[in-house]
Amino acid sequence: MMGPSHALSGAAVWLAGSWAVDRFDLYHQSPLEIAVGTAVCAGAALLPDIDMSGRVISGQGGATVANTFGRVTLFVAEVVEKASLAVYKLTSMRNDPPRENGHRTLTHTIPFTVGVGALTTWACTAGGKWAVLGILFFMLGLALRGLFHTFAQRAGWIIITALSAAAAYGTYLVLPADRAYPLLGLAVGVGCFVHLLGDAITSAGVPILWPIPTGRRTWRMIGVPNALAVSVGGKVETVLLRSGFALICLAAAAGLVGPTLLELFNIRT
Ligand SMILES: [Zn+2]
Repeated sequence: MMGPSHALSGAAVWLAGSWAVDRFDLYHQSPLEIAVGTAVCAGAALLPDIDMSGRVISGQGGATVANTFGRVTLFVAEVVEKASLAVYKLTSMRNDPPRENGHRTLTHTIPFTVGVGALTTWACTAGGKWAVLGILFFMLGLALRGLFHTFAQRAGWIIITALSAAAAYGTYLVLPADRAYPLLGLAVGVGCFVHLLGDAITSAGVPILWPIPTGRRTWRMIGVPNALAVSVGGKVETVLLRSGFALICLAAAAGLVGPTLLELFNIRT
């Protein structure tokens, strides 16, 4: 899938999940915590494509995520793509095809998903406020890129960077210190995982089993059968799936903040 669809699916999953745990009295969040989690999850749902490099010098190409902070992220994408390719070559088995590009390899695996989620949780706990600020800044930038794609493209990376910094700082000031931080790691992990699912419904598939070998392959691409696969950027993705995700977002958000709003205006149901 393309960047905006990934971001929207991340937001939909986080909002629907938040609604479910709230509805069944398992975990309650403030509207701000929900908003932060949703933005971080939407941003993280773009993260695995940080392995899609473009041209650093001319500042062209690359996935949505690689352009978030201009040449800085394009450079990171270059490094991640090369490192992923190295891991691919190091861990591939006899039946894995040779590759010249690291896209859709290491960053599209479960160990990566769990790893960045755990790393985020650790950073938030050990690094304290500054780590939280950094993670918010980065993930909010990705979310802006993904959710407001056309605007972000027109605005350019300097405005996106400034907006993410402002939003991260504002959130950081009002977020409670005790319980919202561990959720950031979870939101990052869930976002990455949702990305893998999104790619699995396109014809290329994702190496979701890595590093478990099957039939002398560790990098087996798992996805839906070709006949059912969604074509990247096609009508099914840009119209059907995106409207579906948006509807889930709206319904879950209404379910979450609706009762609070009614209470606020003293309307009894
Ligand atoms: Zn991807």
